[in-house]
Amino acid sequence: MAEHSVVIAGGGPTGLMLAGELALGGVDVVIVERRASQELDGSRAGGLHSRTLEVLDQRGIAERFLSAGQVHPAVSYSQIPLDISDFPTRHNYVLALWQSHFERILAGWVDELGVPILRGRDVVGFTQDDRGVEVEVSGDASFRAEYLVGCDGGRSLIRKAAGIDFPGWDPSTSWLIAEVEMDEEPEFGFRRDRTGTHALNRREEGEPIRVVLTERDLEHTGEPGMGELREALVDVYGTDYGLRRATWISRFTDMTRQAAAYRKGRVLVAGDAAHVHPPQGGQGLNTGVQDAVNLGWKLAQVVNRASPDSLLDTYHAERHPVGARALHNTMVAVALGTPDDRHQALRDTMTELLSMDEPRRRIAAMLSGLDIHYDLGAGHPLVGRRMPDLDLHTVNGPTRVFALLHDARPVLLNLGAPGGFDIAPWATRVRLVDGTHDGIWELPVLGEVAAPPAVLIRPDGHVAWAGHLADPELPRALTTWFGAARDAEAHP
Ligand SMILES: Cc1cc2nc3c(=O)[nH]c(=O)nc-3n(C[C@H](O)[C@H](O)[C@H](O)COP(=O)(O)OP(=O)(O)OC[C@H]3O[C@@H](n4cnc5c(N)ncnc54)[C@H](O)[C@@H]3O)c2cc1C
Repeated sequence: MAEHSVVIAGGGPTGLMLAGELALGGVDVVIVERRASQELDGSRAGGLHSRTLEVLDQRGIAERFLSAGQVHPAVSYSQIPLDISDFPTRHNYVLALWQSHFERILAGWVDELGVPILRGRDVVGFTQDDRGVEVEVSGDASFRAEYLVGCDGGRSLIRKAAGIDFPGWDPSTSWLIAEVEMDEEPEFGFRRDRTGTHALNRREEGEPIRVVLTERDLEHTGEPGMGELREALVDVYGTDYGLRRATWISRFTDMTRQAAAYRKGRVLVAGDAAHVHPPQGGQGLNTGVQDAVNLGWKLAQVVNRASPDSLLDTYHAERHPVGARALHNTMVAVALGTPDDRHQALRDTMTELLSMDEPRRRIAAMLSGLDIHYDLGAGHPLVGRRMPDLDLHTVNGPTRVFALLHDARPVLLNLGAPGGFDIAPWATRVRLVDGTHDGIWELPVLGEVAAPPAVLIRPDGHVAWAGHLADPELPRALTTWFGAARDAEAHP
């Protein structure tokens, strides 16, 4: 039986990102993926939000994605555009990039990091005890691991086999989605009628046309085909525009559910395995990638024996509320799209509200993931929030905060006079950087905040502590997040 420290079931966006994070943390990890290649049926998710671009930037790989997509200044909430070009981030836009391209580029990075991917195999079961997990894989293979992470999508076998409940809401609406070729040029854009909202679009000349049609019926048996698609097009547009070929036809609903626990012993769930909701607001892939970035460094520290296993409980504590918010706001988005006069009145009111600065900022910051605030206790407003990507001057020359996070290690950034804190007891785990920043400190929604003399930044870019180096809370924060002080590190 092969042994790895961590087995990841599923090599979609979440599993790939987690594998990259674990590899940076020096963990021996393997992905088991059902698909024989990274190719996807259909393009699926259409874009990356600001915070996802920021976490990719924190690893030095944002440019790979930016050069493959198109930038748009507004996020869309139930088709209400919310401009975010005034947000204080280097990535104050949405990046239009199909999931198929996103996965290909991310898989390239994971490959460079040397993570093995066992393709064309399913995780079919597991047993866990105090010391580890035995993971059964199709084809009569098995692995022994310390931890198993289910990144195996909404129908997650791992979640079910772990006995984790998946409470939520049954679907109320169903949509047909397809990528097609048509002889005639269709009417591009959105159309609303008594059934709901429908859309036809093509991002680039030469690409297939993407069709999304609200269905009259919720219940269906079997997978949709060309006949059903043609019928639905005629139903909405009065023509099928000479529908010639479909490269992908599928169906999705607004089923909305969330895992009651993101961890059960040595088994964790992330991404769609932990939360499913309709694609309104484009948050599924983004939330999964950010789950992975929250979990990766914690799991690496536990596997590397730097931190106790209890650190993993903070994964649920921090990410469950973020997932719950995504569920909540997608339910609102579906309600706003309900095609009757009363909901239209609600939509008009919401559109008016969102044209005002403060509501626009709040909702857009939530959708783009920039307002995430983990509850790490009282203190400076930065604590628990994402660290802004400040320009810095250091003894090694100019840099910026995100560049300090490329290797996914924590950083104690001292913006005051050098000296004043002995990092030696954590020196192999936490990097102390002396630097200065000339500008203001501005956070999305909150606005300008007082510049702290020092900040402790976690590998996921969230601030664990901010204050003076003499603050007795600093050693406590270092111990809480990165493990106990070690004499051996003080006197190597
Ligand atoms: C039409 C549509 C539009 C969307 N638009 C957006 C959008 O604009 N923005 C956005 O952020 N999200 C969007 N989403 C959601 C997004 O596609 C998902 O949230 C995202 O793919 C989740 O990634 P994941 O890695 O968690 O799960 P998945 O992408 O589902 O990946 C799970 C992987 O696990 C594999 N697997 C499953 N079971 C096993 C097993 N037992 N053993 C081994 N491997 C297994 C699967 O083959 C798959 O590769 C959209 C979804 C749809 C359907």
